[in-house]
Amino acid sequence: MSEKILVFDSTLRDGAQAEGISFSVEDKIRVVETLDKMGIDYIEAGNPGSNPKDIEFFNRIKGIRLNHAKLVAFGSTRRGGIAVEDDANLKAILETETPGVAIFGKSWTFHITDIIKTTLAENLKMIEETMAYLKAQGKDVTFDAEHFFDGYKNDPAYAIEALLAAQEGGADCLALCDTNGGTLPYEIQEIVTDVRQKLRIPLGIHCHNDSGLAVANSLMAVHAGARQVQGTFLGYGERCGNANLATIIPNLQLKMGFHCLADAELQKLTSSAIRIAEISNYALTGREPFVGKSAFAHKGGMHIDAVMKNPASFEHVSPEAVGNERRILMSEVSGRSTIIQLINEVDPSLTKKSDETTRVMDRIKELEYQGYQFEGAESSVKLLIRKELGMHKPFFTLEDFKTIGEQTHTKEALSSSAVVKINVDGQSEINAAEGDGPVNALDKALRKALEVFYPKISEVRLTDFKVRVIDSKSATASKVRVLIESSDGVDIWTNVGVSTDIIEASLIALIDSIEYKLLSDEEREQQKH
Ligand SMILES: [Zn+2]
Repeated sequence: MSEKILVFDSTLRDGAQAEGISFSVEDKIRVVETLDKMGIDYIEAGNPGSNPKDIEFFNRIKGIRLNHAKLVAFGSTRRGGIAVEDDANLKAILETETPGVAIFGKSWTFHITDIIKTTLAENLKMIEETMAYLKAQGKDVTFDAEHFFDGYKNDPAYAIEALLAAQEGGADCLALCDTNGGTLPYEIQEIVTDVRQKLRIPLGIHCHNDSGLAVANSLMAVHAGARQVQGTFLGYGERCGNANLATIIPNLQLKMGFHCLADAELQKLTSSAIRIAEISNYALTGREPFVGKSAFAHKGGMHIDAVMKNPASFEHVSPEAVGNERRILMSEVSGRSTIIQLINEVDPSLTKKSDETTRVMDRIKELEYQGYQFEGAESSVKLLIRKELGMHKPFFTLEDFKTIGEQTHTKEALSSSAVVKINVDGQSEINAAEGDGPVNALDKALRKALEVFYPKISEVRLTDFKVRVIDSKSATASKVRVLIESSDGVDIWTNVGVSTDIIEASLIALIDSIEYKLLSDEEREQQKH
């Protein structure tokens, strides 16, 4: 049995410090549920002493039972010169009734004398007494030694004394923090190795990414003996962010031989990343290691050929292990061997030489000539293949649509409205909606109409919308290519539409996107039975 590393997620506390992130109480509850389902051990959810919104959250979460994770409230050691019982911040922490607490304290002398302005001896007492007080209340206590690595470099003896005070007070884990994110991996290894020899309780690691090294530093710390790893899911955090747990966890588990999550939980890594990004209202770039859309995307004939023969040729781990999937990017260079992979998903009996394959290839070439580009839009190709093979049953037909742009003299954004009429199995449905611009209005109206027949459409959101004018050498009007990225909180997919009219191009992509969602849901259902 491989050794367990405790995973400590601070997306809701340190992650909430990131520029552009603001969690509502509802968002926080959804993040907690997502992390709990994935098997994360500790969820640090906020600082009740400093933030009224966090107090409301901790009250709400009391009624929700978690399956695995321990909820953690965060705060500082008692203030200087007062008794622990009189500290308002510690009182607020105890009122949350969380099983875990994380308490930060100072270990860098300069911060003690110049920032919080107390004596070095009083600081040690603050640490020890706070630990003892919380342990007496039955808490699982992590001591976050703030600026530990800088403190150690400046005055190693005192930095160690701060840890010894926490150990003396009864802390369960000592998390060494690279708060300013400036430490290098080999320094982390040396310092953690030394600290480990001087302390008897488990060590944790908390890294920031200011040098682009937070993941590397966390792995080095575990390599040197740390057994709790702190970070935020997807690396959200102040300045350049925190250590990215979605990168650390698979490295620890798939490469370093440690145990963080059950295999089935690790397979939720990608869908959890999509979900947390969505709740955080942060767009994924696609290049996130392990969980990004491009993490296992192959382009170029030779690479694709090699991956098909043996995935290990261009993949460091198997995408299935982290719940991601291999993608074969479509482009003019990728040729028949790419297309046949996608065709075989629909009909395994067809080969590169089949007439049907030629027909699909001809159709793709024709569309590429018209201005389509399928790279990154395999979901459109999958639908195209089904149509060419006569295996596509449309889920609906669009009978009519109209958009109306309205210009107002107020400062509000230009609003538009759209009316659509669809037909499903002979039954018509008309719907209208307003939106920011005609495409948004169309999208809303179309989905409202379809929800009557397919309630799961309400899960779908447009996550990206790109328009490119295609350089046209002909005398006719130039064309636009619209790429729409959609997500249902589990999957992300992209569709493409081309037309001389931007609304029509958008509509082609929108319809494809919805058809793809319905088709995927249907396939998922079939696999279950
Ligand atoms: Zn931090």
